[in-house]
Amino acid sequence: MAVQQNKVSKSRRNNRRAHDALVAANPNECSNCGELKRPHHVCPSCGHYDEKEVVAMVDEAEFDDEDAA
Ligand SMILES: [Zn+2]
Repeated sequence: MAVQQNKVSKSRRNNRRAHDALVAANPNECSNCGELKRPHHVCPSCGHYDEKEVVAMVDEAEFDDEDAA
C-alpha cells in the first residue's frame, strides 16, 4: 500500500478542493421542438441542429428477442 510521505495541511487540502465545485448544466431550448438540449449539440429528442434535421429519428424500434435464439 502506498503511504504518503508528508501530511497535507488543511490549508493545502482546502486550496486543492477550491476548484472541485460542480457547475450546473446550461441547457438551451431546441429551436425545432422546444425540448431542452445541450448547447452546440444535436437535439436528442428530434435530431435537429440549427433548424436542420441531421439525425433521422425513428418513432419506435421493434426488437424481437425470441427469433434471435
Ligand atoms: Zn428538438
